[in-house]
Amino acid sequence: MNKLQILVVEDDTPIRNLITTTLKAHDYRFITSASGQGAVMESASHNPDIILLDLGLPDIDGVEVIRRIRSWSNVPIIVISARTEDNDKIDALDAGADDYLTKPFSVEELLARLRVTQRRLALMQNVNNEQATYQNGQLRIDYAVGCAYIGEDELHLTAMEYKLLCLLARNTGKVLTHRFILQNVWGSSWENDIGSLRVFMATLRKKLETAPGSPRYIQTHIGVGYRMQKVE
Ligand code: CA
Repeated sequence: MNKLQILVVEDDTPIRNLITTTLKAHDYRFITSASGQGAVMESASHNPDIILLDLGLPDIDGVEVIRRIRSWSNVPIIVISARTEDNDKIDALDAGADDYLTKPFSVEELLARLRVTQRRLALMQNVNNEQATYQNGQLRIDYAVGCAYIGEDELHLTAMEYKLLCLLARNTGKVLTHRFILQNVWGSSWENDIGSLRVFMATLRKKLETAPGSPRYIQTHIGVGYRMQKVE
């Protein structure tokens, strides 16, 4: 039932083969590129549904590839980075990537990321006409009224907590970096205040999650940021 087309950008042949073998076995279609320039060209000519993008490419940097593709397309991009490229990974997310995989990764991780992205694609199609409410599991946000609920119970959020929750909700399925969240909720003067963001996140979670220690809605990406997960 998949039949989505994935553009696989990876210059390391064994890794590229691992990915394409996995995709083939799970009924995805794919095209490949071993360079950054090739990736930009393939995505322009084939309009893939999802891009898997290695950050360390022989010609142009993966982050630059994202910037170029983002100038015309919102296609979901999952970056693949080595552990030594942690800062590149954050730059990639800030440049508009949706998610990341860290090398070495398992086939299960790859498939899980693709499923998350597919759910995000489905969600994006549903919210194109600016819905007045957001529903995710028990969580509901009524944008017109400016209130959030868990089931029937209203969450008593501060203005900042509400803004933070709405930003995460609007980007459900996407990993948001600390920098992105701080800029969008507090403005750029707070850019480096990750400590304050942690405090706000802790108070928001206390109100939102039944077990704040093992959150269902907001996932932590250590050293990177946060993601609102789609809850069944
Ligand atoms: Ca590489």
